[in-house]
Amino acid sequence: MSIARTTSVVSMKCKLCARMSREGESLCRYHSEALVALKRGYERWNEAYSGLSWIGYLNRVKTAHDTGQWVKDVITLEQSNTT
Ligand SMILES: [Zn+2]
Repeated sequence: MSIARTTSVVSMKCKLCARMSREGESLCRYHSEALVALKRGYERWNEAYSGLSWIGYLNRVKTAHDTGQWVKDVITLEQSNTT
């Protein structure tokens, strides 16, 4: 359980903005919260409309008018991850 490589500890930067992320995470707290909210929303959607794919869900949320910018950023990242 030792952390062997400490030489390259650099402050992590969020993949989506210039904010610092928490150690070991690739997203800042705002974007990681948006991702959590997104996944929670998907679980709810899946119960209501079973069979909706993750990608299908992302597309729906992205085009919804009340989707916040943080969430949209995360969706863009997720979409590029799942090509
Ligand atoms: Zn961020």
